[in-house]
Amino acid sequence: MAAQPKRIGTPELAKAAMVSIRAWQGGERGELACPICRQNGLQIVDKSAQPHTAWFILTCPSCELDEALAIVSSAHSSDHD
Ligand SMILES: [Zn+2]
Repeated sequence: MAAQPKRIGTPELAKAAMVSIRAWQGGERGELACPICRQNGLQIVDKSAQPHTAWFILTCPSCELDEALAIVSSAHSSDHD
């Protein structure tokens, strides 16, 4: 089995990550699913340092995911590539 890159590199994975982040923001701590391997146990750390951008560090003990995800909180940001 080839090693898979543990990266949130697709819109689908980013969306899955957002689901977990939103659950985490809602107070969930124990049942967060990893967007990569889908195992529970995802850890999220809020590294936000700027007023309009939220940074979350997502780590997973199951697949060794270690990814920083930036989320622009402005509702006006409809631009994406
Ligand atoms: Zn994982």
